Amino acid sequence: MVSLELRGIGMTSEKTRRRLVERLRGKGITDPTVLDAIADTPRHLFVGEALSSRAYEDSALPIGRGQTISQPYVVALMTEAVIRGGRPGKVLEIGTGSGYQAAVLASVADRVFTTERISELARSARQRFHSLGLHNVFVRHCDGLAGWPSQAPFDAIVVTAGGVIPESLLDQLSEGGVMVAPEQSGSHQRLIRTTRSRTGFQREDLGAVVFVPLLEGVE
Ligand code: SAH
Repeated sequence: MVSLELRGIGMTSEKTRRRLVERLRGKGITDPTVLDAIADTPRHLFVGEALSSRAYEDSALPIGRGQTISQPYVVALMTEAVIRGGRPGKVLEIGTGSGYQAAVLASVADRVFTTERISELARSARQRFHSLGLHNVFVRHCDGLAGWPSQAPFDAIVVTAGGVIPESLLDQLSEGGVMVAPEQSGSHQRLIRTTRSRTGFQREDLGAVVFVPLLEGVE
């Protein structure tokens, strides 16, 4: 408990976090709900102690097991793309990692169901949500490519690892629901926002991104 308190000093200062928010605003993130969610989420508690002094830089950082915590700008961009149509009830995330994106989503949605294929990461993210009092985030250690059928349909699906997204995941979207996912195209990834309507699916390209790979099976 003492170490958590000590780690907070300086890193959590209003000024440090505000600087990150201003940087994101400068990069085109305008939704105040998203900017507030970023300002309210203690990113330094989602990385190892050795990296906590860099937690409010706008960059991806290693979280162990070859994985990374997403760049704040990309987290903000995905969150903005998800809430554009209003506050989602249920959100599914594929790729819990550190839990940072899920924690940001937890302040803009009613409930977040997040899946992670590496058991160690799922376990530590679960502990973080518990100690932060985030009771609306549910973690499952599984291959997220299958979604979370017992909780479907979802108002939003957020994929935070890049690859070939199975079409069957779209079946777990509610009508009017949105999926935001980094799709592999050749050696590059594009962030695609797909909206489900009564008549089908509409796709929108949000630009180039770089995510760790989406892999099958569990570890
Ligand atoms: N959202 C995370 C980003 C973590 S990196 C954060 O904010 O920290 C992406 C994560 O996706 C990795 O932890 C990786 O293990 C996980 N992943 C990759 N393929 C997966 C799959 N099929 N199912 C669930 N998790 C997966």
